[in-house]
Amino acid sequence: MAKPAILTVDDDPAVSRAVARDLRKQYAEEYRIIRADSGQEALDALKELKLRGEQVAVLLADYRMPNMTGLQFLEHAMDLFPRARRVLLTAYADTDAAIQAINIVDLDHYLLKPWHPPEEKLYPVMDAMLEAWKAAPDRPVADVKVVGHRWSAPSFKVRDFLARNMVSYRWYTTDDAEGQRLLAAAGLTEADVPLVVTPEGKTMVAPSEAELAVQVGLTTTPASDFYDLVVVGGGPAGLGAAVYGASEGLRTVLLEERATGGQAGQSSRIENYLGFPDGVSGAQLTDRARRQAVKFGAELLTACKVTRLAVQGSARVLHFEDGTTIAAHSVILATGVSYRRLHAPGLEQFHGRGVYYGSAATEAPSCSDQDVYIVGGANSAGQAAMFFSRYARRVHLVIRAPDLDASMSRYLIEQIAAVPTIEVHPCTEVVGADGDEHLERLTLRSMTTGEERTVESSWLFIFIGAEPRTDWLDGVVQRDERGFVLTGPDIAASTEHVALGRDPYHLESSVPGVFAAGDVRADSVKRVASAVGEGAMAVSLVHRYLVEGQ
Ligand SMILES: Cc1cc2nc3c(=O)[nH]c(=O)nc-3n(C[C@H](O)[C@H](O)[C@H](O)COP(=O)(O)OP(=O)(O)OC[C@H]3O[C@@H](n4cnc5c(N)ncnc54)[C@H](O)[C@@H]3O)c2cc1C
Repeated sequence: MAKPAILTVDDDPAVSRAVARDLRKQYAEEYRIIRADSGQEALDALKELKLRGEQVAVLLADYRMPNMTGLQFLEHAMDLFPRARRVLLTAYADTDAAIQAINIVDLDHYLLKPWHPPEEKLYPVMDAMLEAWKAAPDRPVADVKVVGHRWSAPSFKVRDFLARNMVSYRWYTTDDAEGQRLLAAAGLTEADVPLVVTPEGKTMVAPSEAELAVQVGLTTTPASDFYDLVVVGGGPAGLGAAVYGASEGLRTVLLEERATGGQAGQSSRIENYLGFPDGVSGAQLTDRARRQAVKFGAELLTACKVTRLAVQGSARVLHFEDGTTIAAHSVILATGVSYRRLHAPGLEQFHGRGVYYGSAATEAPSCSDQDVYIVGGANSAGQAAMFFSRYARRVHLVIRAPDLDASMSRYLIEQIAAVPTIEVHPCTEVVGADGDEHLERLTLRSMTTGEERTVESSWLFIFIGAEPRTDWLDGVVQRDERGFVLTGPDIAASTEHVALGRDPYHLESSVPGVFAAGDVRADSVKRVASAVGEGAMAVSLVHRYLVEGQ
């Protein structure tokens, strides 16, 4: 972190230099001395410091300055750094004005010019100011800062993207005083949010995920244009493939559209993954897998959505949204599945403003002391119910089936039964959502009696099964009627394989050298362990393909 600043402003350059020189002599070891020749220049410097999350300990301003007086400057400066101590430099004739200013800008001290010798007149005042500031400093913020509306889908999207990519950030609503200071420092208003400020002080208004990824230091472009293996999708299957591919010497790159971890990254507690008897959160597992893949030399790219696969001779070419491409000898498709949408009047309108698909862990602290509704009867919904029960007053699990037995693991059913604040609503469905600025009410219907009732809630988390998003493979790779990728013996007839004089390998798709692993594969077991296992297995088949299969 940079040293806290002491800023001095005087329109007379000679005086300004002299003050700065005396301050440096005494305080340069602990503080950064910043000098400005006008109120505006000083304010600009303060805005930059605010955006970079730095601290300002003391402001010294000359009283008589053209365009912006010392008092006017201190008044503006207070809006940005309310905790900085304020000192006015005055001539003897201005003493009365300085005394009056004590009330106007809450002045801490005024110093008569000239202040020589500084040991007697400047340093004792400064020491007292610095001591007072140290007792109540503003905190430095080295993280990314996000300013947004509490109920805003674009603001939620930014926070969710950062959280899933494990980028630490500070969140300020537009009602927070600090949020308003950041908006002022960036020269923006509430209408411009979400505002994202990087630790270097760069500002972005409503950035795209690709832009955000670049600015917060995530890798988004490949180092090379040709690889042995391209893995598409950064969930457990993709990360597994990247670890095994890179560790076995293949030049490997992993392309992820949003955030590594995939669905598993959203899990609050995975309890059935081998080697973690006490369970592991999806975020922890993802972090370890990422580091392992990078350690072995795999490149992991984020905010890279693959939109097309083309076969050009022995090369497999992947196209990105922005028109660029990357090529490889082999490809592993590990694009998993995404949540199916729940269709009921009003739901779509509140997506990101009270209605969320998946567990949206960023929202959990805001749910404290409120009623949360979760739709779904599978393990993912059960985990979410357990997770939100730590924050919410009451968690309502809405399921269409008469009980959880057929869809949820026994261990989770038992955990849920042991939490008195979780209530299961069997044979029930959500048929409507209503609210003003955000979700406020839900309509539930009993599937046995048809009776409808309205409940007050600002939180609905939906986990109702998932489907693959594989349209971009249309006409290239064979898929089943639901869009899952067919592999090995399930492939009907592949002219490419006939030409090669061999059958497709077990996880190989209808395109030789293109494999599928994890949830995206037809008839796969939808589990973390099987996804990781298939990622590893696909790599061994890639080796076989490279040696004897082309
Ligand atoms: C909340 C929750 C809890 C769960 N809990 C458990 C559990 O306790 N135990 C268990 O065994 N299983 C659990 N599961 C299931 C498990 O997480 C999945 O089976 C597993 O994540 C599948 O891994 P995958 O790599 O095949 O796909 P995914 O995890 O779905 O990852 C696919 C990745 O590919 C990316 N992608 C998609 N399309 C593209 C594209 N065109 N370009 C680039 N990238 C793309 C996606 O953004 C995503 O990150 C849970 C799932 C959820 C949602």
